[in-house]
Amino acid sequence: MKIKTYRRTAQILTVFAIFFIPLLNVYELYFVKGTFISMDIGDAAMADPLAVFQSMLAAGRVNEYMLGSVIIPVVLMLLLGRVWCSWFCPYYLCAELMTWLRKKLKMKPYKPVYKDTVPVRQSKFRYIFLFIGLVLMCIAGVPILNLISAPGIISTQAMLIVKFHYVTFELVFVLVLLVLELFYFRFWCRLFCPTGTFLSFFRWKKGMTVEKVRSECSDCLSCVRSCPMMINPMTMGASSHCNNCGDCVDICPDNRKEDTLKFTFK
Ligand code: SF4
Ligand code: SF4
Repeated sequence: MKIKTYRRTAQILTVFAIFFIPLLNVYELYFVKGTFISMDIGDAAMADPLAVFQSMLAAGRVNEYMLGSVIIPVVLMLLLGRVWCSWFCPYYLCAELMTWLRKKLKMKPYKPVYKDTVPVRQSKFRYIFLFIGLVLMCIAGVPILNLISAPGIISTQAMLIVKFHYVTFELVFVLVLLVLELFYFRFWCRLFCPTGTFLSFFRWKKGMTVEKVRSECSDCLSCVRSCPMMINPMTMGASSHCNNCGDCVDICPDNRKEDTLKFTFK
């Protein structure tokens, strides 16, 4: 079975969960509560590492409880790479839907021609964007990057719909991003999203990575063309840009004959 089948299942279950969790709360079942910014499961707390980092930066002190709430996400990222993005983030699923729609409409988005310098430039850009956001956050003294956290906004809006039957203006931000996805190839996750960029800091080279395990291949470059993050899976699987979506592994024609491109642990 293709990796994408498992990934899609995880994505759909996540979307189901962001509506189902507040529904449980409506019926006064509070075993699980919260949004993707911060969630409690029983006695365990889980929070977006960037949201926690911003809160501690704004407060100017380390909070042990908050620090504890990032243990599960950080360990997950260290072991499995940025699977949060491609397997669980609801925005990523919406962006993939927009890619599908764009193909149906036969639209051609702006997509840079692949060169080895493209991933380097993308990385620099998104780290600079995150840095500027953190500087502005320090000046404002509030975690303003949460205001542009697409997964945080989507899960908060789902909670508002289920519990209070309304949405807020923040949803417009996500809708605008999704419309722009029709014109600029995967621009938000590739270049801007502070949540995804911050998670890249927890990319561990010994964790799960895409690796070309056979030196020879038919060199069709299908994997490069399939990569939504515009990196070369044959040489850059361990890059902090890779979100372990597995699209390159699925598409590699040589994998059907012999293991060529696959997920490995070092
Ligand atoms: S980069 Fe941001 S919006 Fe994209 S999948 Fe990751 S967390 Fe979600
Ligand atoms: S290198 Fe492969 S697994 Fe990583 S983002 Fe690109 S297509 Fe997905």
